Amino acid sequence: MRKQDSLFIAGAWVNACGAGCATVTNPGTEEVIGQVPLGDERDVERAVTAARQAFAGWAATPSSVRAGYIRALAEQLKARADEMASLITAELGMPVQWCRAVQVEGPIAGLEQYIHLAALMDEVHEVGNSLVLREPVGVCAFINPWNYPLHQLLGKLAPALAAGCTVVVKPSQETPLHAFLLAEMIEAIGLPAGVFNLVSGPGAKVGEALAKHPDVDMVSFTGSTDAGVRVAQAAAPSVKRVCLELGGKSPLLIGADADLAAAVRYGVQDVMINSGQTCTALTRMLLPASRYAEALELARAECESLRLGDPLDPQSFLGPMCSAAQRRTVREYIQIGRQEGARLLCGGAEAPSEFERGYYLKPTLFADVDNRMRIAQEEIFGPVLCLIPYADEAQAVQLANDSPFGLSSAVWAGSSERALSLARQLRAGQCFINGGAFNYLAPFGGYKQSGNGREWGEEGLAEFVEVKAIQL
Ligand code: NAD
Repeated sequence: MRKQDSLFIAGAWVNACGAGCATVTNPGTEEVIGQVPLGDERDVERAVTAARQAFAGWAATPSSVRAGYIRALAEQLKARADEMASLITAELGMPVQWCRAVQVEGPIAGLEQYIHLAALMDEVHEVGNSLVLREPVGVCAFINPWNYPLHQLLGKLAPALAAGCTVVVKPSQETPLHAFLLAEMIEAIGLPAGVFNLVSGPGAKVGEALAKHPDVDMVSFTGSTDAGVRVAQAAAPSVKRVCLELGGKSPLLIGADADLAAAVRYGVQDVMINSGQTCTALTRMLLPASRYAEALELARAECESLRLGDPLDPQSFLGPMCSAAQRRTVREYIQIGRQEGARLLCGGAEAPSEFERGYYLKPTLFADVDNRMRIAQEEIFGPVLCLIPYADEAQAVQLANDSPFGLSSAVWAGSSERALSLARQLRAGQCFINGGAFNYLAPFGGYKQSGNGREWGEEGLAEFVEVKAIQL
């Protein structure tokens, strides 16, 4: 049981002004494993004031010193990586061996990029009679989701610290514990007071107060498109910068000349990892009609081979859904898919019989999906994959782009040249070809209703930068 009874504001652990606590549940056991304070608008006020007071000093700190703090934080995270991975497994339900690699080691590697990128803040460009300088944008509010909690937090925190911004962090209600552990590490490295502040609490109260606050210069939000729209509306009157990282319904376009077994295995695993609770999940698999029947069999075999189980069991590929509410939503979508006429190939909405408790849901495949169905257009955010046939390549590209979202995409083709030519035609912020790996040096973000920001790499730093032109 991890009981957090205070917030981290101005470099100290302080009692929340807001009354009461929110409990955190282990989705595998349904047991309460922690609690965090329910902060309110007064806590936001204190945290923003602390961040404002710390801003001038932190912005004036040499970039090499800021880089030193980022290095120290990375070292803390490495030293306590097992503790962090266990905590995220307990609050999220992602199997522990995946959790350590994807939720902890990957984000640490991303954080470390900014040890070097911080020096970019010192670069001055000459254009005609002008000097163009980079300066930090100011006080930043981070509002985060529950599905890749540390990854999303570090994707904002690392570039913000490198740029010289100060921050107020609001974690999600479902998975807030990792942020408290991170605050302990921030305290341990002696980051100047007020540079990092943590306020837990409900989105509609703490998140909204941050988005509205006139002394917050930028809000960086990761979450659902609906909540992102509300954040942008709340932020508009104060004309603050708004960076939105939102939902997705990403396609995997498998070419007729592809290694079908490898492509289908990749696609099924990509969706099922973290029980489908991944913003970039390739939830629409576009398959050539000429090889559709063969692909369905491969997909079914792969799906049935993935072990659904206890997140602490190293053999488990998928654990439970993060919450009862999320499982309910996904079950409703599985019913909708059946009503829309899609063919259930495996899985389904019924609770798997082998678990007495826990928010488990079977990995589910739908065949004969029409791209206009709701299950192909809306983000389900669960272990549900739509298998969609196409007649020719032109139709495959049209179907891939026929989505309100544009976060990610993937292509598997007989050669990387052909895959690259298809990748160029897809309207999405990233495209993985023939199994290419995630890269923390490259920008990450969405087109269309998947958002307007970029995280990681140089572009991730640019989000936190103001540019000033000085005319000589
Ligand atoms: P959510 O939108 O419900 O909540 C996200 C955060 O916003 C939470 O901290 C929540 O408390 C807060 N919030 C909710 N309403 C708010 C409001 N009115 N004002 C201010 N804050 C508010 O999303 P979620 O269920 O936590 O996360 C899942 C979603 O996040 C999915 O849509 C997923 O695709 C998306 N996501 C996107 C990315 C990306 O990088 N594009 C990454 C991870 C998750």
